[in-house]
Amino acid sequence: MMNLELIRTNPDAVKRAAAAKRVSVDIDELIELDQKSRRATEHLDGLRHTLKTVSRQVGAGGEGREQAKALGDEIRVAELEQRNHRGRLDTLLSQVPNILAPEVPEGDDDSDNLEIRRWGTPRSFDFPKRDHLELMLDLGMVNLDGPRQFAGARSYALTGPGAMLELAVLRYAMDTVVAKGFTPVIPPVIVREQALFGTGFFPGSREETYQLPADDLYLVGTSEVGLVAMHSDSILSEEQLPIRYAGWSPCFRREAGSAGRDSRGLYRVHQFTKVEQVVICHNDPVVSEREHYGLLGNAEAILQGLDLPHRVALACSGETGLGQYRKHEVETWMPSRDSYSETHSCSTMLDFQGRRSRIRYRSGKDKIFAHTLNNTAVASPRILVAIVENYQNADGTVTVPEVLRPYMYGLEVISK
Ligand code: AMP
Repeated sequence: MMNLELIRTNPDAVKRAAAAKRVSVDIDELIELDQKSRRATEHLDGLRHTLKTVSRQVGAGGEGREQAKALGDEIRVAELEQRNHRGRLDTLLSQVPNILAPEVPEGDDDSDNLEIRRWGTPRSFDFPKRDHLELMLDLGMVNLDGPRQFAGARSYALTGPGAMLELAVLRYAMDTVVAKGFTPVIPPVIVREQALFGTGFFPGSREETYQLPADDLYLVGTSEVGLVAMHSDSILSEEQLPIRYAGWSPCFRREAGSAGRDSRGLYRVHQFTKVEQVVICHNDPVVSEREHYGLLGNAEAILQGLDLPHRVALACSGETGLGQYRKHEVETWMPSRDSYSETHSCSTMLDFQGRRSRIRYRSGKDKIFAHTLNNTAVASPRILVAIVENYQNADGTVTVPEVLRPYMYGLEVISK
Protein backbone atom coordinates (compact mmCIF):
# COMPACT_ATOMS: atom_id res chain seq x y z
CA MET A 1 0.00 0.00 0.00
CA MET A 2 1.36 3.37 -0.87
CA ASN A 3 1.65 6.19 1.60
CA LEU A 4 -1.36 8.46 0.97
CA GLU A 5 0.64 11.46 2.17
CA LEU A 6 3.27 10.79 -0.54
CA ILE A 7 0.54 10.64 -3.20
CA ARG A 8 -0.94 13.94 -1.91
CA THR A 9 2.38 15.74 -1.87
CA ASN A 10 4.07 14.16 -4.88
CA PRO A 11 1.41 12.78 -7.24
CA ASP A 12 3.75 13.15 -10.22
CA ALA A 13 6.28 10.67 -8.79
CA VAL A 14 3.51 8.09 -8.37
CA LYS A 15 2.10 8.79 -11.85
CA ARG A 16 5.59 8.37 -13.33
CA ALA A 17 6.04 5.03 -11.55
CA ALA A 18 2.63 3.80 -12.74
CA ALA A 19 3.41 4.79 -16.34
CA ALA A 20 6.88 3.19 -16.19
CA LYS A 21 5.47 -0.04 -14.71
CA ARG A 22 2.68 -0.10 -17.32
CA VAL A 23 0.07 -0.01 -14.52
CA SER A 24 -3.21 1.74 -15.22
CA VAL A 25 -4.53 3.54 -12.15
CA ASP A 26 -6.25 6.93 -12.04
CA ILE A 27 -4.21 9.00 -9.57
CA ASP A 28 -6.28 12.15 -10.22
CA GLU A 29 -9.47 10.25 -9.31
CA LEU A 30 -7.72 8.98 -6.19
CA ILE A 31 -6.76 12.51 -5.15
CA GLU A 32 -10.31 13.73 -5.77
CA LEU A 33 -11.71 10.84 -3.70
CA ASP A 34 -9.24 11.64 -0.92
CA GLN A 35 -10.47 15.25 -0.87
CA LYS A 36 -14.12 14.15 -0.90
CA SER A 37 -13.43 11.66 1.88
CA ARG A 38 -11.73 14.31 4.00
CA ARG A 39 -14.55 16.81 3.38
CA ALA A 40 -17.09 14.11 4.32
CA THR A 41 -15.18 13.45 7.56
CA GLU A 42 -15.15 17.16 8.42
CA HIS A 43 -18.88 17.43 7.67
CA LEU A 44 -19.57 14.39 9.86
CA ASP A 45 -17.47 15.76 12.71
CA GLY A 46 -19.42 19.04 12.48
CA LEU A 47 -22.79 17.25 12.61
CA ARG A 48 -21.70 15.12 15.60
CA HIS A 49 -20.49 18.21 17.42
CA THR A 50 -23.83 20.01 16.82
CA LEU A 51 -25.76 16.90 17.94
CA LYS A 52 -23.76 16.80 21.15
CA THR A 53 -24.57 20.46 21.90
CA VAL A 54 -28.27 20.00 21.09
CA SER A 55 -28.48 16.76 23.13
CA ARG A 56 -26.93 18.49 26.13
CA GLN A 57 -29.55 21.25 25.78
CA VAL A 58 -32.38 18.67 25.56
CA GLY A 59 -30.91 16.80 28.55
CA ALA A 60 -31.05 20.00 30.57
CA GLY A 61 -34.80 20.23 29.82
CA GLY A 62 -34.48 22.70 26.95
CA GLU A 63 -35.74 22.80 23.36
CA GLY A 64 -34.37 20.76 20.46
CA ARG A 65 -35.83 17.24 20.52
CA GLU A 66 -36.92 17.50 16.84
CA GLN A 67 -33.60 19.01 15.76
CA ALA A 68 -31.67 16.17 17.50
CA LYS A 69 -33.74 13.59 15.65
CA ALA A 70 -33.12 15.31 12.30
CA LEU A 71 -29.40 15.55 13.08
CA GLY A 72 -29.31 11.83 13.88
CA ASP A 73 -30.81 11.06 10.45
CA GLU A 74 -28.38 13.41 8.73
CA ILE A 75 -25.45 11.75 10.51
CA ARG A 76 -26.49 8.29 9.33
CA VAL A 77 -26.60 9.52 5.71
CA ALA A 78 -23.23 11.28 6.10
CA GLU A 79 -21.68 8.14 7.64
CA LEU A 80 -22.80 6.07 4.69
CA GLU A 81 -21.43 8.62 2.26
CA GLN A 82 -18.10 8.73 4.08
CA ARG A 83 -17.85 4.93 4.15
CA ASN A 84 -18.50 4.84 0.39
CA HIS A 85 -15.78 7.38 -0.34
CA ARG A 86 -13.35 5.59 1.99
CA GLY A 87 -14.11 2.18 0.42
CA ARG A 88 -13.53 3.45 -3.12
CA LEU A 89 -10.42 5.28 -1.96
CA ASP A 90 -9.00 2.11 -0.35
CA THR A 91 -9.74 0.08 -3.49
CA LEU A 92 -7.92 2.58 -5.70
CA LEU A 93 -5.09 2.93 -3.19
CA SER A 94 -4.51 -0.83 -3.22
CA GLN A 95 -3.86 -0.61 -6.99
CA VAL A 96 -1.23 2.14 -6.77
CA PRO A 97 2.25 0.80 -7.53
CA ASN A 98 5.32 1.44 -5.47
CA ILE A 99 7.76 4.05 -6.74
CA LEU A 100 10.88 2.88 -8.60
CA ALA A 101 14.52 3.11 -7.60
CA PRO A 102 16.24 5.78 -9.72
CA GLU A 103 18.58 3.28 -11.38
CA VAL A 104 15.72 1.10 -12.78
CA PRO A 105 15.81 1.27 -16.61
CA GLU A 106 12.59 2.10 -18.44
CA GLY A 107 11.29 -0.81 -20.54
CA ASP A 108 8.50 -3.24 -21.37
CA ASP A 109 9.87 -6.74 -20.94
CA ASP A 110 12.97 -8.69 -19.97
CA SER A 111 14.74 -7.79 -23.21
CA ASP A 112 15.01 -4.30 -21.64
CA ASN A 113 16.60 -5.59 -18.40
CA LEU A 114 20.10 -4.31 -17.73
CA GLU A 115 22.77 -6.97 -17.46
CA ILE A 116 25.04 -6.24 -14.51
CA ARG A 117 27.55 -9.13 -14.48
CA ARG A 118 28.21 -12.72 -15.53
CA TRP A 119 29.88 -15.48 -13.60
CA GLY A 120 31.36 -18.66 -15.09
CA THR A 121 31.57 -19.81 -18.68
CA PRO A 122 28.85 -21.90 -20.31
CA ARG A 123 30.21 -25.33 -21.12
CA SER A 124 30.75 -26.37 -24.74
CA PHE A 125 29.86 -30.01 -25.26
CA ASP A 126 32.00 -32.41 -27.29
CA PHE A 127 29.03 -34.80 -27.55
CA PRO A 128 25.38 -34.24 -28.49
CA LYS A 129 23.88 -32.60 -25.41
CA ARG A 130 20.52 -33.82 -24.12
CA ASP A 131 17.87 -31.84 -22.31
CA HIS A 132 16.98 -32.41 -18.64
CA LEU A 133 13.81 -34.33 -19.44
CA GLU A 134 15.52 -36.95 -21.61
CA LEU A 135 18.30 -37.33 -19.04
CA MET A 136 16.01 -37.53 -16.03
CA LEU A 137 13.57 -39.97 -17.64
CA ASP A 138 16.47 -42.17 -18.67
CA LEU A 139 17.98 -42.13 -15.17
CA GLY A 140 14.67 -42.76 -13.39
CA MET A 141 14.73 -39.30 -11.81
CA VAL A 142 11.24 -38.23 -12.88
CA ASN A 143 7.85 -39.64 -13.79
CA LEU A 144 5.56 -37.53 -15.97
CA ASP A 145 3.00 -39.83 -17.58
CA GLY A 146 1.43 -41.15 -14.39
CA PRO A 147 1.14 -37.75 -12.65
CA ARG A 148 -0.21 -36.08 -15.81
CA GLN A 149 -3.03 -38.63 -15.91
CA PHE A 150 -4.13 -38.19 -12.31
CA ALA A 151 -3.03 -34.57 -11.71
CA GLY A 152 -3.15 -32.84 -15.09
CA ALA A 153 -0.79 -30.76 -17.20
CA ARG A 154 2.57 -29.62 -15.81
CA SER A 155 2.43 -32.32 -13.10
CA TYR A 156 5.45 -34.51 -12.31
CA ALA A 157 6.84 -36.80 -9.67
CA LEU A 158 10.52 -36.70 -8.79
CA THR A 159 11.65 -40.25 -8.22
CA GLY A 160 14.71 -41.99 -6.77
CA PRO A 161 17.85 -39.91 -7.47
CA GLY A 162 15.61 -37.05 -8.77
CA ALA A 163 13.90 -36.77 -5.38
CA MET A 164 17.25 -37.09 -3.58
CA LEU A 165 18.80 -34.37 -5.75
CA GLU A 166 15.93 -31.96 -5.00
CA LEU A 167 16.20 -32.59 -1.27
CA ALA A 168 19.96 -32.12 -1.51
CA VAL A 169 19.86 -28.79 -3.32
CA LEU A 170 17.15 -27.39 -1.05
CA ARG A 171 19.05 -28.45 2.03
CA TYR A 172 22.32 -27.04 0.65
CA ALA A 173 20.63 -23.67 0.00
CA MET A 174 18.99 -23.69 3.42
CA ASP A 175 22.30 -24.50 5.16
CA THR A 176 24.09 -21.76 3.19
CA VAL A 177 21.73 -19.01 4.32
CA VAL A 178 21.34 -20.36 7.86
CA ALA A 179 25.16 -20.17 8.13
CA LYS A 180 24.75 -16.45 7.29
CA GLY A 181 22.41 -15.94 10.22
CA PHE A 182 19.00 -16.53 8.64
CA THR A 183 16.38 -18.28 10.78
CA PRO A 184 14.84 -21.34 9.09
CA VAL A 185 11.03 -21.32 9.01
CA ILE A 186 8.49 -23.72 7.55
CA PRO A 187 5.40 -21.47 7.42
CA PRO A 188 1.78 -22.29 6.51
CA VAL A 189 1.04 -22.51 2.80
CA ILE A 190 -2.76 -22.41 3.23
CA VAL A 191 -3.67 -18.85 4.13
CA ARG A 192 -6.48 -16.33 4.43
CA GLU A 193 -7.10 -13.61 1.86
CA GLN A 194 -5.66 -10.92 4.14
CA ALA A 195 -2.19 -12.51 4.06
CA LEU A 196 -2.19 -12.32 0.25
CA PHE A 197 -3.54 -8.77 0.29
CA GLY A 198 -0.98 -7.73 2.90
CA THR A 199 1.93 -8.99 0.82
CA GLY A 200 0.57 -7.31 -2.33
CA PHE A 201 -0.36 -10.47 -4.26
CA PHE A 202 -4.05 -9.58 -4.02
CA PRO A 203 -5.95 -8.11 -5.71
CA GLY A 204 -3.56 -8.30 -8.73
CA SER A 205 -2.57 -11.98 -8.72
CA ARG A 206 -5.91 -13.58 -7.88
CA GLU A 207 -5.96 -15.34 -11.27
CA GLU A 208 -2.58 -16.85 -10.47
CA THR A 209 -3.70 -18.25 -7.09
CA TYR A 210 -5.32 -21.59 -6.27
CA GLN A 211 -8.42 -21.20 -4.11
CA LEU A 212 -10.01 -23.48 -1.53
CA PRO A 213 -13.53 -22.00 -1.66
CA ALA A 214 -15.10 -24.41 0.83
CA ASP A 215 -12.92 -22.88 3.54
CA ASP A 216 -12.33 -19.43 2.05
CA LEU A 217 -8.59 -20.12 1.99
CA TYR A 218 -5.84 -19.97 -0.64
CA LEU A 219 -2.61 -21.81 -1.52
CA VAL A 220 0.44 -19.54 -1.56
CA GLY A 221 2.79 -19.15 -4.50
CA THR A 222 5.74 -18.47 -2.21
CA SER A 223 6.59 -18.73 1.50
CA GLU A 224 7.16 -14.95 1.47
CA VAL A 225 3.41 -14.70 2.18
CA GLY A 226 3.57 -16.60 5.45
CA LEU A 227 6.91 -15.12 6.53
CA VAL A 228 5.67 -11.54 6.17
CA ALA A 229 2.17 -12.30 7.47
CA MET A 230 3.63 -13.77 10.68
CA HIS A 231 4.38 -10.17 11.69
CA SER A 232 1.22 -8.47 10.39
CA ASP A 233 -0.60 -6.21 12.84
CA SER A 234 2.38 -6.18 15.14
CA ILE A 235 4.74 -3.67 16.63
CA LEU A 236 8.33 -4.88 16.73
CA SER A 237 11.08 -3.44 18.86
CA GLU A 238 14.03 -1.87 17.06
CA GLU A 239 16.35 -4.43 18.62
CA GLN A 240 14.53 -7.22 16.74
CA LEU A 241 15.56 -5.73 13.37
CA PRO A 242 16.65 -6.88 10.91
CA ILE A 243 14.67 -10.12 10.90
CA ARG A 244 16.13 -12.51 8.35
CA TYR A 245 14.17 -15.64 7.49
CA ALA A 246 14.82 -18.63 5.26
CA GLY A 247 11.40 -20.08 4.43
CA TRP A 248 10.95 -23.61 3.11
CA SER A 249 7.69 -24.39 1.36
CA PRO A 250 5.87 -25.90 -1.54
CA CYS A 251 4.69 -23.14 -3.91
CA PHE A 252 1.52 -23.33 -5.98
CA ARG A 253 0.96 -21.34 -9.16
CA ARG A 254 -1.85 -21.58 -11.68
CA GLU A 255 0.40 -20.11 -14.41
CA ALA A 256 -2.84 -18.71 -15.80
CA GLY A 257 -1.17 -16.47 -18.37
CA SER A 258 1.41 -19.04 -19.50
CA ALA A 259 -0.70 -21.43 -21.58
CA GLY A 260 1.62 -23.28 -23.97
CA ARG A 261 4.78 -21.57 -22.60
CA ASP A 262 7.69 -23.75 -21.40
CA SER A 263 5.41 -26.77 -21.49
CA ARG A 264 8.24 -29.31 -21.93
CA GLY A 265 9.82 -30.74 -18.81
CA LEU A 266 10.21 -29.20 -15.39
CA TYR A 267 10.96 -25.55 -16.13
CA ARG A 268 7.44 -24.18 -15.52
CA VAL A 269 5.20 -26.28 -13.28
CA HIS A 270 2.21 -25.71 -10.99
CA GLN A 271 3.85 -27.01 -7.82
CA PHE A 272 7.46 -26.58 -6.83
CA THR A 273 9.53 -26.22 -3.67
CA LYS A 274 11.48 -23.14 -2.73
CA VAL A 275 13.81 -21.90 -0.05
CA GLU A 276 13.02 -18.20 0.12
CA GLN A 277 14.92 -15.42 1.86
CA VAL A 278 12.83 -12.70 3.51
CA VAL A 279 14.07 -9.67 5.42
CA ILE A 280 12.13 -7.22 7.60
CA CYS A 281 14.27 -4.18 8.43
CA HIS A 282 14.39 -0.48 9.35
CA ASN A 283 12.51 2.00 7.20
CA ASP A 284 15.72 3.40 5.80
CA PRO A 285 16.60 3.13 2.09
CA VAL A 286 20.29 2.81 2.97
CA VAL A 287 19.57 -0.16 5.24
CA SER A 288 17.22 -1.88 2.78
CA GLU A 289 19.66 -1.32 -0.09
CA ARG A 290 22.37 -3.04 1.96
CA GLU A 291 19.99 -5.92 2.72
CA HIS A 292 19.04 -6.17 -0.97
CA TYR A 293 22.64 -6.69 -2.05
CA GLY A 294 23.13 -9.13 0.83
CA LEU A 295 20.20 -11.25 -0.43
CA LEU A 296 21.47 -11.04 -4.00
CA GLY A 297 24.97 -12.07 -2.88
CA ASN A 298 23.56 -15.12 -1.09
CA ALA A 299 21.81 -16.32 -4.27
CA GLU A 300 24.99 -15.83 -6.28
CA ALA A 301 27.05 -17.65 -3.62
CA ILE A 302 24.66 -20.63 -3.83
CA LEU A 303 25.02 -20.79 -7.62
CA GLN A 304 28.79 -20.36 -7.38
CA GLY A 305 28.93 -23.20 -4.85
CA LEU A 306 27.08 -25.31 -7.41
CA ASP A 307 29.52 -24.07 -10.09
CA LEU A 308 26.63 -23.05 -12.36
CA PRO A 309 27.30 -20.18 -14.82
CA HIS A 310 24.86 -17.35 -14.30
CA ARG A 311 24.26 -13.68 -14.85
CA VAL A 312 22.63 -10.90 -12.83
CA ALA A 313 20.30 -8.36 -14.41
CA LEU A 314 18.46 -5.33 -13.08
CA ALA A 315 14.81 -5.69 -14.09
CA CYS A 316 13.39 -2.89 -16.24
CA SER A 317 10.35 -0.89 -15.10
CA GLY A 318 7.79 -3.04 -16.94
CA GLU A 319 9.17 -6.18 -15.26
CA THR A 320 9.20 -4.61 -11.79
CA GLY A 321 6.04 -5.70 -9.97
CA LEU A 322 3.39 -3.52 -8.33
CA GLY A 323 4.99 -3.48 -4.87
CA GLN A 324 8.62 -3.67 -5.96
CA TYR A 325 10.99 -0.72 -5.77
CA ARG A 326 13.98 -2.53 -7.24
CA LYS A 327 14.34 -6.07 -8.61
CA HIS A 328 17.33 -8.07 -9.76
CA GLU A 329 16.95 -11.33 -11.58
CA VAL A 330 19.57 -14.03 -11.48
CA GLU A 331 19.55 -16.21 -14.56
CA THR A 332 21.33 -19.55 -14.70
CA TRP A 333 22.77 -21.11 -17.85
CA MET A 334 20.50 -23.83 -19.24
CA PRO A 335 22.18 -25.71 -22.13
CA SER A 336 18.98 -27.01 -23.75
CA ARG A 337 17.49 -23.52 -23.85
CA ASP A 338 20.83 -22.16 -25.03
CA SER A 339 20.26 -19.21 -22.74
CA TYR A 340 20.46 -17.84 -19.24
CA SER A 341 17.01 -18.37 -17.70
CA GLU A 342 15.53 -16.91 -14.52
CA THR A 343 16.12 -18.93 -11.37
CA HIS A 344 16.09 -16.22 -8.68
CA SER A 345 14.44 -12.85 -8.21
CA CYS A 346 15.50 -10.36 -5.56
CA SER A 347 13.16 -7.50 -4.59
CA THR A 348 13.08 -4.51 -2.30
CA MET A 349 9.54 -3.54 -1.35
CA LEU A 350 10.33 -0.50 0.87
CA ASP A 351 7.31 -0.14 3.21
CA PHE A 352 4.74 -1.33 0.61
CA GLN A 353 4.10 -4.64 2.40
CA GLY A 354 4.76 -3.08 5.81
CA ARG A 355 1.82 -0.70 5.31
CA ARG A 356 -0.53 -3.28 3.80
CA SER A 357 0.30 -5.79 6.54
CA ARG A 358 0.65 -3.15 9.26
CA ILE A 359 4.10 -4.26 10.39
CA ARG A 360 5.57 -1.49 12.50
CA TYR A 361 8.46 -1.03 14.89
CA ARG A 362 8.85 1.35 17.77
CA SER A 363 11.48 4.05 17.43
CA GLY A 364 11.41 6.42 20.41
CA LYS A 365 7.81 7.66 20.56
CA ASP A 366 7.10 6.79 16.92
CA LYS A 367 5.70 3.65 15.35
CA ILE A 368 7.23 3.20 11.90
CA PHE A 369 6.27 0.89 9.03
CA ALA A 370 9.09 -1.61 8.38
CA HIS A 371 10.76 -2.27 5.04
CA THR A 372 10.63 -5.79 3.59
CA LEU A 373 12.69 -7.62 0.97
CA ASN A 374 12.76 -11.09 -0.55
CA ASN A 375 14.87 -13.27 -2.79
CA THR A 376 14.95 -16.89 -3.83
CA ALA A 377 17.69 -19.00 -2.23
CA VAL A 378 16.83 -21.89 -4.53
CA ALA A 379 13.69 -23.11 -6.33
CA SER A 380 13.35 -26.71 -7.48
CA PRO A 381 12.75 -28.40 -9.90
CA ARG A 382 13.81 -25.39 -12.04
CA ILE A 383 17.32 -25.54 -10.60
CA LEU A 384 17.45 -29.27 -11.45
CA VAL A 385 17.09 -28.31 -15.12
CA ALA A 386 20.35 -26.36 -14.83
CA ILE A 387 22.15 -28.95 -12.68
CA VAL A 388 21.28 -32.00 -14.75
CA GLU A 389 21.96 -30.34 -18.11
CA ASN A 390 25.23 -28.67 -17.07
CA TYR A 391 26.55 -31.78 -15.31
CA GLN A 392 25.62 -34.37 -17.95
CA ASN A 393 28.24 -36.78 -19.29
CA ALA A 394 28.67 -38.36 -22.74
CA ASP A 395 27.45 -41.74 -21.43
CA GLY A 396 24.12 -40.29 -20.23
CA THR A 397 25.09 -40.17 -16.55
CA VAL A 398 24.99 -36.99 -14.45
CA THR A 399 27.79 -35.97 -12.10
CA VAL A 400 26.54 -34.76 -8.71
CA PRO A 401 27.89 -31.25 -7.92
CA GLU A 402 30.53 -31.57 -5.21
CA VAL A 403 28.65 -29.44 -2.65
CA LEU A 404 25.60 -31.71 -2.93
CA ARG A 405 27.43 -35.00 -2.39
CA PRO A 406 27.31 -34.85 1.44
CA TYR A 407 23.49 -34.65 1.10
CA MET A 408 23.46 -37.66 -1.29
CA TYR A 409 25.30 -40.17 0.92
CA GLY A 410 28.49 -39.36 -1.00
CA LEU A 411 27.01 -40.30 -4.41
CA GLU A 412 29.27 -38.88 -7.13
CA VAL A 413 27.51 -39.90 -10.34
CA ILE A 414 23.84 -40.63 -11.06
CA SER A 415 23.66 -43.57 -13.43
CA LYS A 416 21.11 -46.20 -14.43
P1 AMP B 1 9.07 -15.51 -8.06
O1 AMP B 1 8.65 -15.75 -6.65
O2 AMP B 1 7.95 -15.44 -9.06
O3 AMP B 1 10.03 -14.36 -8.16
O4 AMP B 1 9.89 -16.81 -8.48
C1 AMP B 1 11.03 -17.19 -7.80
C2 AMP B 1 11.62 -18.38 -8.49
O5 AMP B 1 10.73 -19.48 -8.36
C3 AMP B 1 11.84 -18.23 -9.98
O6 AMP B 1 13.02 -17.52 -10.26
C4 AMP B 1 11.90 -19.67 -10.39
O7 AMP B 1 13.17 -20.24 -10.08
C5 AMP B 1 10.86 -20.31 -9.50
N1 AMP B 1 9.56 -20.39 -10.17
C6 AMP B 1 8.62 -19.45 -10.29
N2 AMP B 1 7.54 -19.90 -10.95
C7 AMP B 1 7.80 -21.18 -11.26
C8 AMP B 1 7.07 -22.21 -11.95
N3 AMP B 1 5.83 -22.00 -12.41
N4 AMP B 1 7.65 -23.42 -12.09
C9 AMP B 1 8.89 -23.65 -11.59
N5 AMP B 1 9.61 -22.73 -10.92
C10 AMP B 1 9.08 -21.51 -10.77
